[in-house]
Amino acid sequence: PTFEALNLKEDLLRGIYAYNFEKPSAIQQRAIIPIMRGRDVIAQAQSGTGKTATFSISALQSIDTNIRETQVLVLSPTRELAVQIQTVVLALGDYMNVSCHACIGGTSVGEDIRKLEAGQQVVSGTPGRVFDMIRRRNLRTKDIKVVVVSATLPHDVLEMTTKFMTDPIRILV
Ligand code: AMP
Repeated sequence: PTFEALNLKEDLLRGIYAYNFEKPSAIQQRAIIPIMRGRDVIAQAQSGTGKTATFSISALQSIDTNIRETQVLVLSPTRELAVQIQTVVLALGDYMNVSCHACIGGTSVGEDIRKLEAGQQVVSGTPGRVFDMIRRRNLRTKDIKVVVVSATLPHDVLEMTTKFMTDPIRILV
């Protein structure tokens, strides 16, 4: 299995290799294609298996860089994680000319608004600030194609599956 076999955009592939990934991990081999195709995916994997890169690569592949509006929203339980994900997305997307903003509490609201108005194709945030920005209409959701959420408890997963997902694929590694 190779990253070439996933039929990724040339500039994304370049970012992946520049980041020093050689081949897709088990979860990447199974989850990237269905996410890219727009399926609802529940990926259960321990940390260290490459989950962050799985949804980052899928998200980057799904972005139309000609559209400045937000197309991917990643929600994290902590500000630190949201920033880490922003760093990974920007690194893997280094050759794509993609924008990614960390929309998190504890930072200036005015600055957040200014950055969102400049256009952020990926938003990696925490629920409180993201909701505030959506409520104020500074974060517009009409072009969002991929939403990523982290669930830690089995009950959360079940609730999200039944409330928000259509015919989800469950991937366990
Ligand atoms: P995660 O499970 O997302 O916390 O990722 C764990 C670690 O694996 C991180 O340091 C990633 O940079 C690394 N990683 C993810 N995917 C790959 C890959 N395909 N090849 C090599 N390292 C990877």
